[in-house]
Amino acid sequence: MTRLAFRHVLTPEGLVADRALSVDAAGRIEAIEPSAGPWDGFLAIPGLPDAHSHVFQRALTGFGEARRTTHGAGPEDSFWTWREAMYRLAGSLGAGELRDVARLAFGEMVAAGFTSVAEFHYLHHGAGGEPPLEMAGAVVDAAREAGIRLTLLPVLYERGGFGRPLREEQERFSLGGLQGYLRLLAELEARRRGAAPGEAFGLGVAPHSLRAVEAASLPALLEGAAEALGPGFPVHIHVSEQRGEVRACRAAHGLTPVELLGRHVPLDARWNLVHATHATPDERTRIREAGATVVLCPITEAWLGDGLFPADEHAARGGRLAVGSDGNVRIDAAEELRTLEFGQRLRTERRARLATEEGLGAPLWTLVAAGGAAALGARVGALEPGAFADLVVLDEDRPTWAGQGPARMLDALVVGGSRADLGDVYVGGRRVASGGRAAGGEEAAAGFRRVVARLAADLG
Ligand SMILES: [Zn+2]
Repeated sequence: MTRLAFRHVLTPEGLVADRALSVDAAGRIEAIEPSAGPWDGFLAIPGLPDAHSHVFQRALTGFGEARRTTHGAGPEDSFWTWREAMYRLAGSLGAGELRDVARLAFGEMVAAGFTSVAEFHYLHHGAGGEPPLEMAGAVVDAAREAGIRLTLLPVLYERGGFGRPLREEQERFSLGGLQGYLRLLAELEARRRGAAPGEAFGLGVAPHSLRAVEAASLPALLEGAAEALGPGFPVHIHVSEQRGEVRACRAAHGLTPVELLGRHVPLDARWNLVHATHATPDERTRIREAGATVVLCPITEAWLGDGLFPADEHAARGGRLAVGSDGNVRIDAAEELRTLEFGQRLRTERRARLATEEGLGAPLWTLVAAGGAAALGARVGALEPGAFADLVVLDEDRPTWAGQGPARMLDALVVGGSRADLGDVYVGGRRVASGGRAAGGEEAAAGFRRVVARLAADLG
C-alpha cells in the first residue's frame, strides 16, 4: 500500500484540499481521505491519456521541413508528401531501433504529463525480417521500461487506397489480410494474459482508415476481435483527416467516410474517430449521438496542415473529446491543449472557446482526460477510488503560475506552461518522471541518438 498526500487534488467533482490517496498493490486508488500531511506535493491532477500515437514517428522530428521547389505538376508540401518521408523511415526500422525510439518517446510522454498511451501500431514487419509479434513486443517492452500505461492498438492495413492494391512501401504494414491480423491479436492477448502484474497492458483494435481497410470487412473484424479479446475493447480509426481522403471516399462510394462507416457498423461508445477534421455538421451530430469519441491531435494537425475540427461547438453540444500526440513531433500535454484552444480562437476570432465560467485549464483537462479514458478503455484520467493512481503534481513555486491559487494554476499551465513546469509524475502510484524529465532518460536519449544518426546518414 502506498500513500500519497497533497494540499489540493483535482477530482471529477472539482478541487478538494488536504487529501491522501491510498494506492493498492495493483496501482489503483483505494480511497481519498482527509490528511494532515506530510505532503508529497501541492496540487495533484490526473495524468492525461495520450489517445493517439505512432511512436516511431518521433524519430522524424526535424526531417522534411524545407520547402520543396515545385515545377509544373510537382507536389506541393502537404500531408501526402510528408507521408513519403514517413514511409522511408518506417521501411528502415528493425525491432531494436523501434524499441530505442519508443523508449525515448514514451519517457517524454510521462515527463510531459501523458501517463497512458493508445499506441496505433502498424509497423508489423521489421527491416531485419522481424515478425509482427516481435515488433509489437518492442513497443510493449519500451512502454514498460518507460513506466507508461499502454493500450496497444494493432492496426489492420489491407490496401493502398480506395480500390487500390498495397504499394511496396506499405507491405510492412500488412498482415496478409484479416486472418493474419486476428492471429496477431490472439497472440498478443495470450501475452497480455500471461503478463506479470507490473507488465500489464491493454489491447484494442484499429482498422487504419477507410482508405486502407474495406468498410465491408469491418463487421468481420469486430466479430473476430470480440472472440480474441472478449467484449468491451476500444476501436480506433483515422477518419476525414484530409479533404483528399473525403473526395476519394465520395468518388468510390458516393458517401463521406463517416457515412460509409455508419453503413457497415453501428457507431457506438467504443469507437474513437481520430481527427474527424472534415466531418460535416450532420456527421458530427451522429458522432455525438453514438457517444463515440473524437480524438484530436492538435500539434500534429497544425504541423501537417490538416485543418481545424470545430472542437468548441462539439464540446458545447456534449461531444466527447480526447487528444493524441500522433506524429510525436513535440510531446507535451499542456501544449496539445493550448494548440487545441488557440486553434479554436483563431478560427472563431473569439477567446475562451473550451473554457467554462470556472476557467479554462481544469475543465479542459478534465474533459480531455475523460475522453482519453474512454479511448484507452481503462480506468484512468480521474482521481477517484477505483481508478489508477496516474497523476501529475504541480508544485506551488513555478513562475509560470506565480500569484495564482490552485484553481487557476491549470489555466496558466494550459496557456503558458510546458512539461518543464511539471513536478513528479506517477503511474500506478509509482514515480516515473519529475521536472519534465523521465527516469532513465539519459540512457534512452543515447539509444535514440544512435537511431537518428543512422537515419540522417541513410535518409539525408
Ligand atoms: Zn495517426
